[in-house]
Amino acid sequence: MATQKMLKFVTVAKETPEKRPATLRNQDFHEIYREFAAEKAAEQAARCSQCGVPYCQSHCPLHNNIPDWLRLTAEGRLEEAYELSQATNTFPEICGRICPQDRLCEGNCVIEQSGHGTVTIGSVEKYITDTAWENGWVKPIKPAVERTESVAIIGAGPGGLSAADVLRRKGYQVTVYDRYDRAGGLMTYGIPGFKLEKPVVMQRIEQLELGGVSFVLNCTVGVDLSFDAIRGQHDAVLIATGVYKSRDIEAPGVGARGVVRALDYLTASNRKSFGDDVPEYDSGELNAMGKRVVVIGGGDTAMDCVRTAVRQGATSVKCLYRRDRANMPGSQREVQNAEEEGVDFVWLSAPKGFTGGETVDGVMVQKMRLGQPDASGRQMPELIEGADYVEGADLVVQALGFEPEDIPTLWGVSDLAVTRWGTIKADFRTHATNLPGVYAAGDIVRGASLVVWAIRDGREAADAIMAYLKQAEVVAAE
Ligand SMILES: Cc1cc2nc3c(=O)[nH]c(=O)nc-3n(C[C@H](O)[C@H](O)[C@H](O)COP(=O)(O)OP(=O)(O)OC[C@H]3O[C@@H](n4cnc5c(N)ncnc54)[C@H](O)[C@@H]3O)c2cc1C
Ligand code: SF4
Repeated sequence: MATQKMLKFVTVAKETPEKRPATLRNQDFHEIYREFAAEKAAEQAARCSQCGVPYCQSHCPLHNNIPDWLRLTAEGRLEEAYELSQATNTFPEICGRICPQDRLCEGNCVIEQSGHGTVTIGSVEKYITDTAWENGWVKPIKPAVERTESVAIIGAGPGGLSAADVLRRKGYQVTVYDRYDRAGGLMTYGIPGFKLEKPVVMQRIEQLELGGVSFVLNCTVGVDLSFDAIRGQHDAVLIATGVYKSRDIEAPGVGARGVVRALDYLTASNRKSFGDDVPEYDSGELNAMGKRVVVIGGGDTAMDCVRTAVRQGATSVKCLYRRDRANMPGSQREVQNAEEEGVDFVWLSAPKGFTGGETVDGVMVQKMRLGQPDASGRQMPELIEGADYVEGADLVVQALGFEPEDIPTLWGVSDLAVTRWGTIKADFRTHATNLPGVYAAGDIVRGASLVVWAIRDGREAADAIMAYLKQAEVVAAE
């Protein structure tokens, strides 16, 4: 490819389609992208040393056979590479885009360990599966036999959908219930489109629908339909409802207009990208355009908020975190991306309150230092007296993480066992809860985690559900 073309691609690749130069829209951009991606994938795949101690594979939650599909890609045998990669991963093109590879496969690549820079495993995985979709190698779901047993899945996020995929391929009747109007869970409404383009998620949902999975959307279990009714209608149930209770800041002024929750902010932005009518976005309430934005938190959700605010045209974006860079929970790669985009990180800073009265105009910031380690070995932030100041802000986004909702109470199933953190208690291998025929997977068991772990749980739970239903069939036949 001409170097000039490649440079042009690199410059515009990070922009949203609307911001790309008109000359590079649609077909042009797509062609340049394909050419560039093909070269990059082959080049990266060839860098794998086939070391024989695949730490990348053991640090991938799905134990993807990475060295083999890298070798096949380097040899130009892309369809075989795809077959191998999809054998262990339900959504390889999604993981390739959004896994925090620096903490998983790529962080453990021996080439990275020896200081030569990791093979970019995630982008090769994405390339292989995107190519498979384009070339029609992604097979429709066509069960060889239809079975009569039916399974209910509550929650259409990656945990629920990966279980639905496994079960349906084996011929089980699968109904997925979700309270949102679209399936996909946080892949649809949480993770921003610049990290995970929505058509990529929607094509998987369409594949499941075409394969015979039924979706009952706009259905909040516990409100529109009881858990008992679902249990009564199906032979087994998988709960994959994720964690949605925001951890809110407790400080004076937190109720002011302009202090919002991360998920409300990100959902509004994602809905807008679907072309939905979003009054809170149009009114400016959940839109950073022309505003001084302060995001509070140091995890990946905070990174998504700051990067969304940059794209919405905020005049300034600051991220306040009470520890330092080395001790933040978010991916270092994401911090670097945010910094490159102009986000200002204000380390060792915590909110004490909000100024402005009814409408926020600033955050009272208290400066911190790191003190003694706590029981987990992590240094505890301590207050520095007399170092407070006010950081001007028109929009403050709280991104302090999520907790599980109280499912036993909300669903009227007091006998469903939960942990002291409110997550559902389930066997770590079979994902069985204490209720017969009821399984649980993904964030609702692990607490806020990752898409790749939800996929693994969903696949394992599906296997366990099939074993349970076969056992029930044997017992019934006796
Ligand atoms: C902003 C943000 C960014 C993230 N970025 C990344 C990332 O880059 N990479 C990564 O790997 N992970 C990321 N994560 C984490 C990842 O999205 C989750 O770990 C993953 O989606 C969990 O999957 P799940 O299937 O368990 O739950 P979810 O994806 O949360 O899906 C649960 C579904 O259950 C439905 N539901 C809940 N209660 C009910 C009910 N009562 N009735 C009916 N339906 C119900 C919900 O509507 C939802 O659709 C991010 C999370 C957030 C919040
Ligand atoms: S699923 Fe995630 S961790 Fe596993 S190989 Fe792909 S990008 Fe790496």
